[in-house]
Amino acid sequence: MRILVTGGAGFIGSHLIDRLMAQGDEVICLDNFFTGRKHNILKWLDNPYFELIRHDITEPIKLEVDQIYHLACPASPIHYQYNPVKTIKTNVMGTLYMLGLAKRVKARFLLASTSEVYGDPEVHPQSEEYRGNVNPIGPRSCYDEGKRVAETLAFDYHLQNNVEIRVARIFNTYGPRMLENDGRVVSNFVVQALKGQPLTVYGDGSQTRSFCYVADLVEGLIRLMNGEHTGPINLGNPDEYTILQLAQAVQNRVNPDAEIIFKPLPQDDPKRRQPDITKAKTLLDWQPTIPLAEGLKLTIEDFRDRVTSPEGHHLASV
Ligand code: NAD
Ligand code: UDP
Repeated sequence: MRILVTGGAGFIGSHLIDRLMAQGDEVICLDNFFTGRKHNILKWLDNPYFELIRHDITEPIKLEVDQIYHLACPASPIHYQYNPVKTIKTNVMGTLYMLGLAKRVKARFLLASTSEVYGDPEVHPQSEEYRGNVNPIGPRSCYDEGKRVAETLAFDYHLQNNVEIRVARIFNTYGPRMLENDGRVVSNFVVQALKGQPLTVYGDGSQTRSFCYVADLVEGLIRLMNGEHTGPINLGNPDEYTILQLAQAVQNRVNPDAEIIFKPLPQDDPKRRQPDITKAKTLLDWQPTIPLAEGLKLTIEDFRDRVTSPEGHHLASV
């Protein structure tokens, strides 16, 4: 099969490409390198079944493919808030062009949506039926509302034009290849601990998140794409931790002497988040297999190479 991965040079996209290439598919990676890195896909560049296209999805493009994993969009608050209008364009125009492409070539289209469509949730855990509590004019709305429109577009192309769609609502995912300066909590804490800097907990650290290791998530995406259900389907690890617990877990593993300091909580920061994965379990026979302790170990090893060796640091910045 010929498979297009938008955002394929990014964190999740590059792990997905590793799986698709290993199973013998032909892969086209499309990326504008805003938060993606060539280094993430370096090992495939000479492979004749792999093609890299530098392209911004806010412009149309014509390609012939069988499946589209649509992941292109910055995922970390500091990156998606850097240029909010661009984030909306990426989610709305970018998704529109990719759905147009799927319609033209009759490709199956999977949207990487997000738990952020639930906003600061009033129900817990979040099931797919919950319609969310999103601030339409807050600092997170370019991303949250952008993804909500992207879901709407996917379903409208499905209902109006019979495009085969799959919608994954991805919860916080972590693992090797996250950017050092990503600003997301796992990468921040690990980098801070490795550099001997204080770990920055926002607020009092009582807010919760549920962290899914990237290999588990990629397995869920592939099952969703190749299964019979459009979704939306939550993909995430239901093991819920407070941010303070996460800081302590990283502290214990990397540097028990690392200090924990408290900084102001960003506006509209969701208080609790935990996926209800009943649908993924029953419809996709999927559930995460890698507990936080194990995933953190693998993530810390990857960051240790980059943060502590000058060569690793240089390579990872390409
Ligand atoms: P990432 O920032 O590492 O990857 C996004 C990729 O998209 C990057 O390679 C970036 O360069 C590319 N990109 C951004 N804008 C683009 C544009 N206009 N044109 C072309 N390429 C563009 O993020 P990630 O964590 O790998 O997330 C991938 C997808 O999964 C995103 O759609 C994100 O919203 C979704 N998601 C991620 C998480 C998570 O915890 N990582 C959670 C929920 C949803
Ligand atoms: N957070 C934190 N310290 C950091 C970065 C993030 O305490 O250095 C908090 C953040 O306020 C949020 C949680 O960790 O409550 C998860 O943040 P992240 O940006 O990783 O993901 P999201 O908020 O989008 O789920």
